[in-house]
Parts: sequence; structure tokens; C-alpha cells
Amino acid sequence: MALKGIVIDPGHGGSDPGAVANNIKEKDYALLISKYMYDRFKELGVPVRLTRDTDISLSPKQRASKIKGFFGTGKDVIVISNHLNAGKGDGAEVIYALRNTGTLSKKILDEIEKEGQNARKYYQLRLPNNPIKDYYFIHRDTPNNEAVIIEYGFVDSPKDDVEQIKNDYKKYAEAVVRAVCNYKGIKYTAPIGSNYYTVKKGDSLWSIANKYGTTIKKLKEINKLSSDLLQIGQVLKIGDNTDNYLMYKVVKGDSLWSIANKYKTTVKKIKEINKLSSDLLQIGQNLLIPTN
Ligand SMILES: [Zn+2]
Repeated sequence: MALKGIVIDPGHGGSDPGAVANNIKEKDYALLISKYMYDRFKELGVPVRLTRDTDISLSPKQRASKIKGFFGTGKDVIVISNHLNAGKGDGAEVIYALRNTGTLSKKILDEIEKEGQNARKYYQLRLPNNPIKDYYFIHRDTPNNEAVIIEYGFVDSPKDDVEQIKNDYKKYAEAVVRAVCNYKGIKYTAPIGSNYYTVKKGDSLWSIANKYGTTIKKLKEINKLSSDLLQIGQVLKIGDNTDNYLMYKVVKGDSLWSIANKYKTTVKKIKEINKLSSDLLQIGQNLLIPTN
């Protein structure tokens, strides 16, 4: 499955705020999520464009024509339209085009679920007066592209969505990046400081559990694995907490050993987290230090 490019579409914007409640404007979070994704896909070397990167109004027509203009109307283009929901529900949904299968949508929901959001459903929606057509223009007017609408949560949820949107939107955006990479066979590397690990040749659940001070049972639980078999390139979540790091600025006289000692960790761990290939440090260099 080739990939020509990814178009990220922050829903709404400008005079159209989308859903609004609890100090959340859909257009703002759609933009935050989209910009995060854009940066990450760039980092991973994937061709990517945004339909808007500021708070501007775009008509459906303008949006569709932008999308078609970026990478064309082929099947090898993924369109990700980011939205928040309203209607007092709770959880995430993905809507996919009538011409597509639900494979990508399911992967997206599975990854978002790993970040603590509940997955409601992935589905298709037809135009009531012309059921051979998609209900949403983002599907209908982007001829062969693989187009998904992602609703990350409800702005007016009586449950935990409001806090989740505010606190975890980046985690959900990263979850979508992982899902797309997995779907298209793109080499995924987790952002520094995150608790994700990409399986390499020779790894086993046992060796990974050992390396990160966890257990096979916990790894299987977090990643919902039913067997012990791993595949090279598979991405595993290592722990529940992704915030147990501090940033340390190297000063004169520091060595990896002295820093590891100071923070009760190991040279090996610091090198791993910071992807260091040598033991040399430079004054002023920022290092992530595990604090648990
Ligand atoms: Zn929306």
C-alpha cells in the first residue's frame, strides 16, 4: 500500500467554532491536534499538508479543493479530518468513507483507547436523500482518497471527556500517528520521553520487560496482546505514565555516570531515552532523565 501523502484537516475555524462547551472550542483543539500530527509526520519523513494552520474560515468547497490540490485524488492519499463531538456522549468515534474499509478506523480507535479514551464506534454514514453518497462532504468530495473523520471526545460530556480533551489531546494525536504508520507500514519512532518501544530483531517480551523494569504480564495487559509473539517493527507501550521524566541541562564537570548517580538511574537508561550513541556530553545539552 503506497502512500503519496497525508492531508490533515483541522475541522471548522474562523467564524465557525464548531462545538463549544466547558471552555472548549472545537476549532481550537482541532487545530492543536492537527498541528501536533503535522509536526510528527514531518519528523517521520511522511509528506504531509494542512488545510489550515491558523484560525481561518474555510467553506466545504475550499476545503475539498485544497485537499485535492495537495496530493491529488488517488487512493494513496490519506485525509484525516480532526473534530470534537457534542451531544453529551462520552468517547471517541471514527467515520470512514463508503468507498473504504474500516481497517484504518479500527486501528485509530484501538490506539486512542490505549491512551485512556473509550472507543465508541467506527462507522459509515449515508446521505439520507441519496444513500449511495456519503453524508459528510469530506468523504463525498474527496473522490478516491482514504478519508476519515475523527471525533476525539464530547465537549459537553457529563463524564470525563472534558478533562481528557484538555489534558490528553496530544496523546490522542500521537495515537493516530501510530495507527497510520502501522496501517501504511511506515517506520514509527516514538517521540523522546514517551513510553513506547519499537520491537527490534532479537527482542522478546521477556527481554523488553527486563530492560524497562516491568513484567511480561503487564506488557501484555497494556498492549492487549493475546500471544507472546512479537513482530519486528511492532510498537509496544511500556508503561502507563508518560510524564515521569525531567529535563536536565548538562553543566561543566558532568558525566553520564555522575548524572545517573545523582538521579538514581543508569547510564544505559539515559543513553537509551536520549538516543545517545556515545558517552560524550556537551555543556548546555538537554537530557531527559527518568525520575521513577
Ligand atoms: Zn466538527
